[in-house]
Amino acid sequence: MSTETKFKVKVYPSPKPKRVPKVVSEELKHGASPKAISRMKKESVDCPVVKKEVAFLVCFACPSFLRRVTGVVDCAGGQGPPADWLKG
Ligand code: SF4
Repeated sequence: MSTETKFKVKVYPSPKPKRVPKVVSEELKHGASPKAISRMKKESVDCPVVKKEVAFLVCFACPSFLRRVTGVVDCAGGQGPPADWLKG
């Protein structure tokens, strides 16, 4: 998989936060504090691959996620998140 940044994607607080699938939030519990998770749950990105609003935590777990530097995600622009994660 490419590790070069193809897209710079801005993270923003969503007026209507997207649902984060259980499998994603469970996974994150091992690495992030509950406080950080609850803050990030309210954030979204406009994903250039699936071309819609995606919860930041879904983006974070996506195979194309490279890094987040302050409010910007470096996205490799390859595969987007699994369709299952985008329901709701
Ligand atoms: S990392 Fe995944 S979810 Fe995030 S912007 Fe890139 S393709 Fe979309």
